[in-house]
Amino acid sequence: MTPIQVLNPATGGLLAEVPAGTATDVDAAVLRAEGARRDWGRRPPGERAGVLLALADLLDAHRDELAALESANVGKPLGFAAEEIDGSSDILRFFAGAARTMTGTPAAEYVPGRTSFIRREPLGIVGAIVPWNYPLMMACYKLGPALAAGNVVVLKPSELTPLSILRVAELARDILPPGVMEIVTGYGRDAGAAIAAHPAIRLVAVTGDVGTGQAVATAAAQSLKRTHLELGGKAPVVVLDDVDPAAVADAIKVAGYWNSGQDCLAACRVIATDRVYGDLVDALEPAVASLRVGDPAQGEVDMGPVVSARQQARVAGFLERATSAGAEVRGAGRFDSDGFFSSPVIVTGVAQDAEIVQNEVFGPVVTVQRADSDAQALAWANDVRYGLGASVWTRDIARAMRFTRDLDFGAVWVNEHGHTITEMPHGGRRDSGHGSDLSVFSLEELTTLKHVMVNLDEDA
Ligand code: NAD
Repeated sequence: MTPIQVLNPATGGLLAEVPAGTATDVDAAVLRAEGARRDWGRRPPGERAGVLLALADLLDAHRDELAALESANVGKPLGFAAEEIDGSSDILRFFAGAARTMTGTPAAEYVPGRTSFIRREPLGIVGAIVPWNYPLMMACYKLGPALAAGNVVVLKPSELTPLSILRVAELARDILPPGVMEIVTGYGRDAGAAIAAHPAIRLVAVTGDVGTGQAVATAAAQSLKRTHLELGGKAPVVVLDDVDPAAVADAIKVAGYWNSGQDCLAACRVIATDRVYGDLVDALEPAVASLRVGDPAQGEVDMGPVVSARQQARVAGFLERATSAGAEVRGAGRFDSDGFFSSPVIVTGVAQDAEIVQNEVFGPVVTVQRADSDAQALAWANDVRYGLGASVWTRDIARAMRFTRDLDFGAVWVNEHGHTITEMPHGGRRDSGHGSDLSVFSLEELTTLKHVMVNLDEDA
């Protein structure tokens, strides 16, 4: 197969070529993983923890190199990329500790003369399919808990951004035993589909688009493997009328446009109640216009390009259709560059059923809607097929608490947006998928329970 050309989205230039892996490559990776599975799974948790800690140290030691690679491959500001390397090693360290702390039902005689206990065992080979927006960090979301729980992993990075994890695999050769972390580069329709379908893989974890999650779940059903699906988002930002609009605008300037808005938790759907709407839009427009956009290699910027020409066209298509439907796009500009740039914009005058309100754009685009009451804001916030993250902004504790109860999302922030932490679960509801990344809860999904009963009768 023709190799995959990996581009720098800020220039359109070629960074590297990687193999376009096929089902045959997945078979070979699974075979190597199979060879490592028993030894890795039977190592004491403390030993696996040691390996994860060494991997975390390795990421720290190569922080600058990995951040530069990630920045060039995704087009993100260097400082943001460096933070992600820190986040990645933090995740590995957390799971190194968590590997040693699994708890469960006590061993006991639940029937007289018989001792029962639980063994929590690894699943075996786990497939991981990861996206391009935070390439190494998303890989660590999957690797940390899977390896900690005693599984081995066959991982496919996005065809757009395979470079950081390939470099880590190269650097980690003396740390990770062969077969414990197998990387297969390739397209979703080939290598990805082969991972989802492979009968020896017992769980497939995917972070990606809703359609990808559906395809993976369908393929996984054939071998009855478990699925863990972290899919899209369309996070509402509910702004109630007792807040300081300038402070909220400053927060949206970060949370809506971070990583060029290519974030499943992006603060992309603002719903402001009547009395604050005008002031909020007035504050948001200059805040967004002040974002410095450009090639991260050429100087300090707040935002780089989007990841690909395809993504750039996708964002432009959403904006064109919204404009045709009567919306106002504020802030659109043009870039004199071969890179895949897209201006940070806000979009007003949109109806709740508008495409740009209902569907994930995954670009630097934030819609702002005007609701006439708290009840309408809540109804609109919940009225999308996604259920990953949401925030509510108010100084009134009772109003805030009602929203935290009623927002139907996997995470809800109050006077904050999109802040994930390693100790807390990250996962969606409805079309955003199911299962938890991060936190000790992710370990539960990556293990299986065995009930062992021992007959204490001396004559048995
Ligand atoms: P994508 O679905 O196009 O690709 C994700 C991965 O899936 C890639 O590795 C791709 O090659 C693979 N893939 C694609 N089709 C496949 C198939 N049929 N079978 C198996 N694998 C397949 O997503 P993307 O464009 O890389 O990333 C953006 C999407 O990811 C957005 O929808 C975003 O919301 C979502 N995302 C979700 C989270 C979360 O935690 N919920 C985090 C980041 C990104």
